[in-house]
Amino acid sequence: MALLPILQHPDPRLRQKAAPVRLFDAALQRLIDDMFETMYDAPGVGLAATQVGVMLRLAVMDCAPKDAPPQPLVIINPEMFDTSDRQDMEEGCLSVPDTNEKVARFNRLKLRALDRKGQPFELDAEGLMAQAIQHEIDHLDGKLYIDYLSSLKRERINKKLRKQRHPA
Ligand code: ZN
Repeated sequence: MALLPILQHPDPRLRQKAAPVRLFDAALQRLIDDMFETMYDAPGVGLAATQVGVMLRLAVMDCAPKDAPPQPLVIINPEMFDTSDRQDMEEGCLSVPDTNEKVARFNRLKLRALDRKGQPFELDAEGLMAQAIQHEIDHLDGKLYIDYLSSLKRERINKKLRKQRHPA
């Protein structure tokens, strides 16, 4: 397995729309394993393929509480439906480091996706898992959570990131 470099905003590749996964081959299994290793190392609760420069509709997640056994989840070609209970939730992103902001998300939803072998499944998600699913699907559509913030807030974050990258 290998750690993959995580793209950082404003990398233009984070703005591309990913294509559906069609081929469930050994290369895909390797990519999934590397994405899990990269996500746990970061650490984060979710990582989309677009964040490591692979334009496929695939994300890995683990929303298990701290000190609980891991609950790795692979979602491929995901779709959400029956969304409800919108609320403001604190959010962050491995591609927008050191920043957390409140974003309105559905607290409940249903997910339809394929697993790493290409088998379809559905699940009911709520709380952090529902939030993470929306966040990862956004990544696959080239969206970042900071897109939901006011332009003032977004500009403040962009300025901070520029400063971190090019310290005066
Ligand atoms: Zn993210």
